[in-house]
Amino acid sequence: MLLSSATRSLSPQSLPFLSFSHSISLPLPLPLLPNPCRPTRFPSFQISCIDAAQPFDYESHLKNHYIQSTSLKIAILGFGNFGQFLSKTFLRHHHTLLAYSRTNYTDLANQLGVSFYSDPNDLFEQHPDVVLLSTSILSTETLLQKLPFQRLRRNTLFVDVLSVKEFPRNLFLKYLPPDFDILCTHPMFGPESAKASWAGLPFVYDKVRIGDEENRVTRCDKFLGIFEKEGCRMVEMSCMEHDKYAAGSQFVTHTMGRVLEKFGLESSPINTKGYETLLNLVENTKGDSFDLYYGLFMYNQNALEQLERLDMAFESIKKDLFGRLHEVYRKQLFEDNGGVDKKMNLTQKLLGNGSLIEPPLDNQWKYEGQIINSRM
Ligand code: NAP
Repeated sequence: MLLSSATRSLSPQSLPFLSFSHSISLPLPLPLLPNPCRPTRFPSFQISCIDAAQPFDYESHLKNHYIQSTSLKIAILGFGNFGQFLSKTFLRHHHTLLAYSRTNYTDLANQLGVSFYSDPNDLFEQHPDVVLLSTSILSTETLLQKLPFQRLRRNTLFVDVLSVKEFPRNLFLKYLPPDFDILCTHPMFGPESAKASWAGLPFVYDKVRIGDEENRVTRCDKFLGIFEKEGCRMVEMSCMEHDKYAAGSQFVTHTMGRVLEKFGLESSPINTKGYETLLNLVENTKGDSFDLYYGLFMYNQNALEQLERLDMAFESIKKDLFGRLHEVYRKQLFEDNGGVDKKMNLTQKLLGNGSLIEPPLDNQWKYEGQIINSRM
């Protein structure tokens, strides 16, 4: 139609063929040509060629295809400190991010490019591929109890990033429908320690229950792929093993960080490297909530034992120090019999707080009521 009206006013000599872009050439419908005896008027006209071949950008087409095939729709439950931290990296990997939290984070989520939902019903109706739990350890069970699982697709993948592992594993097995896949993970780093990069940092995971179907295996691999691509050190181990190791390392680290923070560690003009390490430790741990620390203690059955071991180690070191002090004291006692005042001054100075060591009446040295050296 477009062609026929346009060509009526053109001379036949000038239009044996109308050539379209590139290789397309069309013969003109001759019966419609104008009478050559009449003066020909050439109205201005334009060919709007809707079927011309457009330049085809294979590169961006392939890129989009790749992104679509590797991207996941991930719903984060608990959009606090750690949930936000993770979402920034997930977005860089072109995943679609949705979030739910008890607090309204709509503005912040919008800035990041995350769709925020104040109601888990609405969120679950978006049928995410992965639901990632990043709530405080303490609130996990309460939250799981009220989630509308029936709104999700039948075999959704549930992932958690809690800093303890046996606890969420058991909760998932208890509350999730049997068709759901379960992946328990612990990225062993946080917004402070992984500010610059995730490269080389440990990522622990346990594929607790992943269905055999190819799409379920692939979905799990795609999720793990985010951490692999970021260069994390991928460590596959059982939740039970994780908790055993983490109590001895992570819980002790957090405890020492908190003790030193309470102690009031301050930078000085003559910081040594060792002291800088301690300052960094305080810096790394003080940003974490007390809920997180309490969760490490409360929901890892190995934590109490580690706390007691720490306590005993501290006492033992004090005893070693005071044992040495008594030897100095004894030497002075026998070498300088008359110098009672001098001895008292020395003891007070070394103890700092002015308290005195009980005299060895029963041949046993004591400090604060405890026997610390019976070799006198
Ligand atoms: P957190 O204090 O352990 O958890 C804060 C999150 O829990 C927030 O999203 C908060 O929601 C939610 N929450 C707290 N109480 C709740 C309740 N009663 N009901 C519903 N939601 C509640 O701090 P976090 O650092 O963000 O850690 C989140 C999870 O990641 C924890 O399980 C932690 O063990 C794990 N993790 C943290 C790190 C880290 O470096 N921070 C590293 C690895 C793993 P609102 O903000 O909406 O109140």
